[in-house]
Amino acid sequence: MSIFTKIITGEIPSYKVAEDDNFIAFLDINPNAKGHTLVVPKKEENKIFDLSKEDYSALMDFSFRVAKALEKSVICKRIGMSVIGLEVPHVHVHLVPTNIMTDMQFTHKVKLTKDEFVGLAESISSNFE
Ligand code: AMP
Repeated sequence: MSIFTKIITGEIPSYKVAEDDNFIAFLDINPNAKGHTLVVPKKEENKIFDLSKEDYSALMDFSFRVAKALEKSVICKRIGMSVIGLEVPHVHVHLVPTNIMTDMQFTHKVKLTKDEFVGLAESISSNFE
């Protein structure tokens, strides 16, 4: 069972920003930038291009809605999107509020307080439609 499945089942906590029957979005615990969010299908699959076309499209649709909420919640030039999965083998889309190219580099990290995580999650969640 992946660490993200444990988040989905509530076994471990997360700063959740959005959820429906098939997807969950929560803040990355080691963010590249403020508001860095992960969008995860509840059905555990390792690689994104092993998803069915239908599940892939649904993941992109959900990510689109989360990105719109992020744009309303975090001041940035644009939302960057990336899929890697080398650390956690459970499909996830990284959505990163980006101002400079290094925001999309996964060696570039910011430290946030618990209150900042909570405030960001509340704001993104309130803007999710
Ligand atoms: P990757 O699999 O290379 O796309 O990276 C996995 C991402 O998941 C990293 O950015 C981690 O910071 C993030 N991550 C790992 N564990 C957690 C967790 N418990 N809650 C939130 N994000 C996590």
